Amino acid sequence: MHDEYEAASTWARETQAIRAGHQRTGEQEHGEPIFPTSSFVYGSAAEAARKFNGEEPGNVYSRFTNPTVRTFEHRLAALEGGERCVATSSGMSAILSTALALLSAGDEIVASRSLFGSTVSLFDKYLGKLGITTRYVELSDLEAWEAAITPATRLLFAETPSNPLSEVVDIAALADIAHRHGALLAIDNCFLTPALQRPLELGADLVIHSATKYLDGQGRAIGGAVVGRNAELEEVFGVVRTCGPCMSPFNAWIFTKGLETLELRMRAHCQNAQALAEWLAAHPGVSRVHYSGLAGHAQHALAARQQDGFGAVLGIEVVGGREAAWSVIDATRLLSITGNLGDVKSTITHPATTTHGRLSDAQKAAAGITEGLIRVAVGLEALDDIRNDLARGLDALV
Ligand SMILES: *Cc1c(COP(=O)(O)O)cnc(C)c1O
Repeated sequence: MHDEYEAASTWARETQAIRAGHQRTGEQEHGEPIFPTSSFVYGSAAEAARKFNGEEPGNVYSRFTNPTVRTFEHRLAALEGGERCVATSSGMSAILSTALALLSAGDEIVASRSLFGSTVSLFDKYLGKLGITTRYVELSDLEAWEAAITPATRLLFAETPSNPLSEVVDIAALADIAHRHGALLAIDNCFLTPALQRPLELGADLVIHSATKYLDGQGRAIGGAVVGRNAELEEVFGVVRTCGPCMSPFNAWIFTKGLETLELRMRAHCQNAQALAEWLAAHPGVSRVHYSGLAGHAQHALAARQQDGFGAVLGIEVVGGREAAWSVIDATRLLSITGNLGDVKSTITHPATTTHGRLSDAQKAAAGITEGLIRVAVGLEALDDIRNDLARGLDALV
């Protein structure tokens, strides 16, 4: 075997996405193999004993390690610039495993108010039961982050850019605040991926992924990952190997192949999204487009500085409230009406009654989720076809 992961440190990101992490077996295969096996055998009782107690590296059981999963982990670690990656069964279990690994009863989290809905439920309902409390602050308000920190704060947690309003926080500044107070910063990098944003390079300690989204990119499987330093990731690995939210080898293979086209896909997603955002901003049926790639966006300069692209999720406010928003959604024939995103297929949804439907009216108002807001996750269909699909409903509003 030659270890291609060793070579990866000198490769450009585009090359790592295609090559990193694959240790060719004796079969001399060209592509990455799948190892659908629950356990592994040993040459002798003594070897089994050494592998079980960790004296000798090697595979024991696929809840602990699996070669296909390891390929995905090494490849994603290389792309994020992390020392180590641990793959998980979903994005949610990546967040849960990180919390179980690093927090204890009495510890506190400070988190952005603009988080994926299930993340908020995980923090409030399930970590709350364990005596871990979370305070929420406005994503871009650095003073609010610092003010919410107490001596018990161990973790700061944010998604940037936010969903669906594309708000951005200065990751380097937030990392400084976390470290001044002895806390860690975790960034959910699901919306941009390492192709467009590398939080570890900016000072964050942990990157969280829902691989379900752009890492796969074609809506085929559920998975997640945590990336960071060896010290913290060894703890996360302990949770995954003991508690069991591990990634299946089949899914790891899908995500590994997904990473091979990540750079190209993300560039194409951004191009389609930018052109669509500019067209929408000029449409009389649209009152506002939330997209950090537009010069009028409040944090356009920060986004341009810390990101290599603006992503492909647009918040579109139409003239006329819920009825108008629903009519635009219902007039589509190409876009999928679904809450999912990060797919080559464009998706459309009405956040106020779906992804953010659990929020009270006051919470929706605070989060900027209006009744006229539509979210479009721009896919890779021809721009004209996406535009025509939205124009059908939008033209009818004016
Ligand atoms: C989807 C998503 C998650 C959860 O990931 P799953 O793979 O669905 O468990 C977490 N964070 C963000 C930003 C997401 O979009």
